[in-house]
Formats: sequence, structure tokens, C-alpha cells
Amino acid sequence: APAPLFERCHGDIDVSFEFFPPRSEAMQERLWQSIGRLAPLEPRFVSVTYGAGGSTRERTHSTVKRILEETDLTPAAHLTCVDASREEVQEVARDYWDAGVRHIVALRGDPPDGQPFSAHPDGYANAAELVAGLKEVADFDISVAAYPEGHPEARSADADLDHLLRKIDAGAERAITQFFFSADAFFRLRDALAARGRNIELVPGVLPVTNVERTREFARKCGSAIPDWLDQKFEGLDALPDARRLVAATVATEMCGRLYAGGVRHFHFYTLNRASLSWTICHMLGVKG
Ligand code: FAD
Repeated sequence: APAPLFERCHGDIDVSFEFFPPRSEAMQERLWQSIGRLAPLEPRFVSVTYGAGGSTRERTHSTVKRILEETDLTPAAHLTCVDASREEVQEVARDYWDAGVRHIVALRGDPPDGQPFSAHPDGYANAAELVAGLKEVADFDISVAAYPEGHPEARSADADLDHLLRKIDAGAERAITQFFFSADAFFRLRDALAARGRNIELVPGVLPVTNVERTREFARKCGSAIPDWLDQKFEGLDALPDARRLVAATVATEMCGRLYAGGVRHFHFYTLNRASLSWTICHMLGVKG
């Protein structure tokens, strides 16, 4: 029988980790413990999200700056164009550049409270315009979002792909995907990009799921599908957090193994500011400190 896929993964994998800016002292402490635990894995970068509607602007900024000042890690600042003029967005970007931040994850964003997006009258209408605007400020290394299962607002899979191509052509270096549970969907998107002559890095966003109900809520908003088999794996485990964590690590490791077998060598982890699952999956993939 062939060896399990993860037995073959070792030494040639890049990882990156995503965090959100903490809202309290206790969360701040947890974030920094997590960063400390994951830093020895030498991630390519660590990214810090920007709250819906730009609500965490200051906290994102201070977290990114602290990473820059207190660690050897490369921070990537998420930036959105919700509720901000072009000038305001460019000013935030200029501040980042002056502070030494070179990597931006450029997103259109969503307004708070599930409202549909509408551009600020003097703002960027979408992430492709934002990427072009950032490149006017400085030569940032820019990541954008991609959706293996389609963005909920996409008119069609082709329109979604066309929009991703616009973001790449505006200057993005790589695209990080929304979380997904179908490796085939990821490979279809990667092949479609290659067929259109864009060989940029498509980095899978890996979400280790311990709570399928909460993930379902999130998935509904962002276009990801929760397969039946994932539901089944969590059935009966509501009161068994240890078992849920084992399932989460197994499911995510298996997915990474499939992606690795298909040539993927960079994995982006949605850590939710907790190190342990991402750390364990990295360990299984042969990424060690
Ligand atoms: P866009 O790429 O501009 O548009 C999204 C979709 O809308 C496109 O895929 C396309 O289908 C359609 N579309 C838009 N414009 C056009 C057009 N002109 N023509 C045709 N179709 C169009 N949100 C936050 O608020 N903060 C974060 O920090 C954050 N981080 C994220 C990180 C990653 C890796 C991912 C995958 C998502 C993140 N998001 C974040 C969520 C993101 O803001 C939402 O998914 C948002 O709805 C779309 O942002 P976008 O950059 O993909 O937008």
C-alpha cells in the first residue's frame, strides 16, 4: 500500500500564519503566546486581519508594528477599502511602508452587519482597484484573496476568475484562498489560472475546524461548502473537545497531504490566534522549529 501522503512531506514546505488583532488584554496575551509558539517554524510571513468595515484599523496597525519591532517575523498587513476614501487607504499604506512593512494582503472587505458592499464615493470599488492604488504608493509585495468555490457575489465561475486575473494584473504576487474542504476545487482554480497564463502562487488557506456549526455560519457568508462527511466526523462529539481537536488535526493534515501530492508547497493557516492545531499540522507536514 502507498505510504500516507503526509509521510512524504518534509523539509520543502513554506507556511504562513494568519492572526486577528486582539480585543482585550487576555486575547493579547494569547496572541503573543501563539506567535511565540509558531515563530520557530519560520513562517514566510504572518498576517494580521483588518476588522469588518476597517473597525480594527488601529489594532491591526499596532499588532503589525509590534511584530516588526519585537520579532524576526515578516508581517503582512491586511487592508480593505470599506468606508474609506482612496486618500485614506493610501495614507494607511504609506504609514505601513514608512514603518518598514512591505507586504499587504489587499481586500475589498465587507461592511459590518452583513450589509452588501458599496464603495465609498471617493473610494476603491474592488480589490483590483485597491491593488493598483497600493502600487502607486510603493512597490509592496501584495497578496489577494481567491475563492476555489466561488465568491458569493460572483455572477459565474468565469466572472470570478476574470476578477482574480484583474487583481493579479494590477500587481498581486500571490493569491491566498478562502478556506475549503475540496482539494479538487483548489486544483481546478490553480489549473484555470495556469490556463490563462498566470503562474502566480495560489496558496491554500487552511482552517483547522473544531466546531462545524460555527464554521457553517462562516462558510455561508464566504462561499465555502461544508461537505456531509465533515458533518458526520463531528457527529456526537459536542461534549468531547479532545476528540474534536483530534478530528480537526486529522482532517486538515489529510487535506494538506492531498494538496502536497498535487504540488502545493506553501500553506497558509487560519490560526484564530491559537497555535496548537496549526503547530501540530505543521509538525505532521515535517515543518519543525
Ligand atoms: P474582490 O476580489 O474585489 O471581489 C470579490 C468578488 O466579487 C470577486 O471574486 C468577483 O466575483 C466579484 N467582483 C468584484 N468586483 C467585480 C467586478 N468589477 N467585476 C466582476 N466581478 C466582481 N475581510 C476583511 O474585512 N478583513 C480581512 O482582513 C480579510 N482577510 C481575508 C483574507 C483572505 C485570505 C480571504 C480569502 C478573505 C479575507 N477577507 C477579509 C474577506 C473579504 O474581504 C471578503 O471575501 C470580501 O467579500 C471580498 O473581498 P475581495 O478582496 O475578495 O474582493
